[in-house]
Order: sequence, then structure tokens, then C-alpha cells
Amino acid sequence: MAEDYYQRLGVEKSASKDEIKGAYRKKAKIYHPDKNPEDPETARKKFKEISEAYEVLMDDDKKRQYDMYGEEGIKDQYFGGGGFTWNDFSHRDDVEDLFSDFIGGGGMGGLFSDLFGRRTARGSSRRRLRKGDDLRVTLEVELEDIKKGTEKTIRLHRKVKCKECGGSGSKDGERVTCPQCQGAGEIRSVTRQGFQQLIRVSACPKCRGTGEFVKNPCPKCDGRGVQEKSETLTIKVPPGADNGTILRAPTKGDAAEGGGREGDLYIYIRVKPHKTFKRSGNHILFEQKVSMVQAVLGDTIRISTLEGKVDMKIKPGTQPGQEYRLRGRGLPDGRGGTGDHIVRIDVEIPKDTNSKQKELIKEFEEIEKEKKKGWYDKIRGK
Ligand SMILES: [Zn+2]
Ligand SMILES: [Zn+2]
Repeated sequence: MAEDYYQRLGVEKSASKDEIKGAYRKKAKIYHPDKNPEDPETARKKFKEISEAYEVLMDDDKKRQYDMYGEEGIKDQYFGGGGFTWNDFSHRDDVEDLFSDFIGGGGMGGLFSDLFGRRTARGSSRRRLRKGDDLRVTLEVELEDIKKGTEKTIRLHRKVKCKECGGSGSKDGERVTCPQCQGAGEIRSVTRQGFQQLIRVSACPKCRGTGEFVKNPCPKCDGRGVQEKSETLTIKVPPGADNGTILRAPTKGDAAEGGGREGDLYIYIRVKPHKTFKRSGNHILFEQKVSMVQAVLGDTIRISTLEGKVDMKIKPGTQPGQEYRLRGRGLPDGRGGTGDHIVRIDVEIPKDTNSKQKELIKEFEEIEKEKKKGWYDKIRGK
């Protein structure tokens, strides 16, 4: 009797997606055709079987169909009765991730050239120039600094090209051709399978794909072509940068050993929290206290903004929580616009009043009552 999908992967029916993924990963490593040179045909068949099971069990809809109607149900429904196809599967994003740890550098290319007997675009591994490592730094900036943008100096310890040999790693520039690949940088192996011929191309392990060796290593860098260096870099932080803004400085990462392109430097911006201003996108929120009398009578008050103090008028009868907007005094959005400085009014109520003040406030209240009474009498037509 044929194994069901759960048995193929060796998981329980109640297995979680992580368990299914883990089980598939294990089996895929065992049955990957690359790992079974003595019997690639059987391995390929097994590999296809477990991949089909994985594809279905990881998809909620397909899994439900499968649990109800079995393998036939799933094939009619999703694969047009024609069975599982590799094309469906190769489009899944997580597949590359799954395979990347056992397909050296070539990603899906190696695998699919093997299974289809033809090369995919991604798999072409001609002498690839190596790239150095990318570096990452976090840079803290003040909110005030990003109103107009700023420049920050950072110290960076990185690998740079050896000055002595210009990064080649060679003392005299003399190179010898790699004997294993005859300078091609890649190894081809051809296998025949019935009517099709499979060509596998992989980077030469001896010269790491470069096709040659340095004859006399540079004494300064021992043939590595790189040196460690501490340097200072000036970083331009653009106006309006926010938490999570990432700046890229091309070629400011590590230099690659044995020549090739430098990696890049990525600068992650972190904007420090401000003690009085809150940020909301490109707007600045600010709370301003005013006295009860200022709120009642209106006033011109001095308030803080990112550009310093400015005068702002508040209208008579301003309510607690009322907002005033100073247009264009927020942060630039990077597209030519600028956010606002939003002032939220908080009204202070006097806590300890003396007898004179109490008297005045009571009097104020009396007049207020009179006013209201007069107003009511008027609309009643008295
Ligand atoms: Zn050198
Ligand atoms: Zn080689």
C-alpha cells in the first residue's frame, strides 16, 4: 500500500507547520539527488514524493482537501489530474530558503538544472567575482538634527584592499592557471539518462571559481589581498530620517579576499526619543500649558519648536485639548513636503486661591448666570 503524505514525511496527522517543515528538511537532505550519486534515479523519485507531500501539507486548503478526499482529490483539484508538477513548486519562495543550506551558493539553480535537465537563469555560475561582506552599523541621531539633515562621523573597523598588491594578493602579479579546472573556474559533469543529457556546472572547489592561483603571495597581506583598517567615515543623514531608515554606502563594507568587489555598509538610523516633542510621521506634537485666564482671554505665547522659540496666538475661549497647527514647522517628508508642528493646549486650573480670588470667581459665576438668564428670557420673548 502506498504511503500517505504524513507517512512520507514521517509526521503525525496533528503535526504543526514547523514540524512538517523540519521533517521535510531532514528527508530532503537524505534524498537530494546530489547526495545520492550511486542511485540518483531512486533519490529523485523519493525527493519528488516528499516534496509533493510537503507542498500539500503546508497549504491549508490543499491539506483540508487531502484529509477529506485523499491523494486523488488533491490531484484533481489542484494539479488538473496531471499530478504534481515541479513548476508549481519552484515558484514557492520558501523553497529557496529551505534548500539554500545544502546547495552551495547556487541556490535553486543546481537543483533544478538537475531535475529538469536544463539550466535555469539563476543557475548560471560562470566565474563569479566574489563580493566582500556587508557591514551594518546603528547610528543614533537627535530629533532636532533631522529637521535639516545632519552629518555624523563614525569609526569603522573593516577589511580594505591591501595597498601593497592592490587587492590581488600577489607579490608580482604572476598567476598560475588552476590545474583542476584548467582556468575555467567551474567543473562540468555530464550524465546521460535515457533521452536526456544532464550537465551539472559547479564552481571549482580548488580555486573557488576564480580559475587561477597567485604564484608568489604578497608578503604584506600573506596573499589574502586585504588588510584590517580603522577609519572614520562621515555619514550624511537626510532631512526627515526616521527610526528604521537605512542608508547604504556602496563599497564601504569589507573588501573580498583575493580580489573582487567590496561589500556595502548599511547604516541603520535610530532617532532618540525627545523629552518634550513627540513625533507622529512628519508632524511634531507638543503640549503647551496656558493659564485659565490666557485660555479665556486669548494671548500671544512663546512656544518651542524644532527651530527654536516662536510666538503663537491663542484665541479667546480656547478649550483644553484644543490644537493649533503651525504649518510647515514639522519634519520634511523627503518628497518636498513638510509636516506641521501641532500644539495641544493644556489649561492649568489654579489650585490654591485666596479669599479675594474666590470672591472674584464667585462674582464671575453670578454674572455668567445672569447672562444665561437674560439669554433665556430673550428667546422666550420676555
Ligand atoms: Zn597584499
Ligand atoms: Zn579551479
